[in-house]
Amino acid sequence: MNSERLDHDRDYEYDAPADAPTYDCPYCGRPFAREEWRTLHYGLEHPAELDDEEVQAFRETYEDEEEDLGTFRLQALAVLVAIYFCLLMIYALV
Ligand SMILES: [Zn+2]
Repeated sequence: MNSERLDHDRDYEYDAPADAPTYDCPYCGRPFAREEWRTLHYGLEHPAELDDEEVQAFRETYEDEEEDLGTFRLQALAVLVAIYFCLLMIYALV
């Protein structure tokens, strides 16, 4: 079942700009715009092929990504609170 999914991935065509540098996955050929994204892809799609060093790289990249996501959530919440506050002020004044 798992190999079926990999075959399907292999059939997929990617439309990457010809002049953009890509980081191709050596296992399935999928191109990535960033090296970190390819590292994440290794851990998610090809965990069995990784050696210890690559697993470590995946964990570090994954943690960085989680951290970025946490920061983004905080910023989004701050924006929502600011909008809510502005609307409340407008409502109170008008
Ligand atoms: Zn791959």
